[in-house]
Amino acid sequence: MANLKLDHLKKIYEDDGRKVLAVKDFNMEIKDGEFIVLVGPSGCGKSTTLRMIAGLEDISEGRLFIDGEDVTTKAPKDRNIAMVFQNYALYANMTIYENMAFSLTLRKEDPEEIHKKVMKAAAILGLTDQLNKKPKELSGGQRQRVAMGRAIVRDPKVFLFDEPLSNLDAKLRSSMRREIKLLHHNLGATMIYVTHDQTEALTLADRIVVMSMGKVQQIGTPYEVYHDPANAFVGYFIGNPSMNFFDGRIENGDFRGPKDLIYPLEEEQKKIVSSYEGKPILMAIRPENIEIGGDLDYSVDLVEHLGQYSLIHGKLGGYSTVIKARGWHNFKEGETIKVALRKDKVCFFDLADGHRIRG
Ligand code: ADP
Ligand code: MG
Repeated sequence: MANLKLDHLKKIYEDDGRKVLAVKDFNMEIKDGEFIVLVGPSGCGKSTTLRMIAGLEDISEGRLFIDGEDVTTKAPKDRNIAMVFQNYALYANMTIYENMAFSLTLRKEDPEEIHKKVMKAAAILGLTDQLNKKPKELSGGQRQRVAMGRAIVRDPKVFLFDEPLSNLDAKLRSSMRREIKLLHHNLGATMIYVTHDQTEALTLADRIVVMSMGKVQQIGTPYEVYHDPANAFVGYFIGNPSMNFFDGRIENGDFRGPKDLIYPLEEEQKKIVSSYEGKPILMAIRPENIEIGGDLDYSVDLVEHLGQYSLIHGKLGGYSTVIKARGWHNFKEGETIKVALRKDKVCFFDLADGHRIRG
């Protein structure tokens, strides 16, 4: 168990003489026992950050502390960190037992101790009956569990996961998600988990780090990043379906789109955007915060039924929009319905750099 301090971490790769700035100024303190998820699109620097923590990549600038100790230049084996990868990286010719015992055997630990640790990890992961099998006899989910078992037996200070569920199908992914959450609960260990999947981030994390283009966009609880996005990127990336965005300008205190959307603002909202009079702005709202019934015209394109909810795709003042409404709605293509935006849920962002406008 451990706390970490990532003190202005930066990574520059040298690629054929070309410099690639993969991670810019990653700055964060992680508490003992926290479950941190780094989330963002492919190429945003998640794996690089994780590999710097593991010691698999040099840190170009900044310092890394584990339990107060500066480990910036320490070798991976001296950091007491275990990493679980997407592709499991199991040894095909070894049994499950041998796979799980391998790192301890290498360390020449006492065989009796090794046996105890492997059996304990196997019990935690429900692998006790699989120990004599070879990896190819196991399902994808079981193999991923073996990969986790190999990490658990080492009793590391920190667990790192790099997209561990990406190779699994959707149903298995959601059940493995619960297992990882339970594992975290049972071990109480510090875990840092990388994914491009915002659902995994929301469901697993104590705190989420949203990244884009090598830069941390927001650090917060799942509630905070979902309900209070720091910028348009976070609003767009977190949540499925994504937030609806309307670009326009503030005119006489009201929002006006370049299309035919005119949205009168309330006093509270006018205050927030008061310095944007005549300037370009992004207005945004989550699909579940548009209500059916109201005084805005909404022209329906298509309805998708999700069971408890319907996704109503259409146009609001000419903008492609999606509404997530409770219940089973059977609106027809081309039908015009009335909707309203929940005033307290409307967000405003600067159109130029995407930052949240809070007034
Ligand atoms: P993610 O895990 O979020 O998909 P990565 O951390 O793998 O992103 O990559 C971040 C950026 O660094 C990308 O632009 C990627 O192309 C670049 N990159 C990653 N590894 C190397 C490397 N070994 N050499 C040069 N560039 C790299
Ligand atoms: Mg990656």
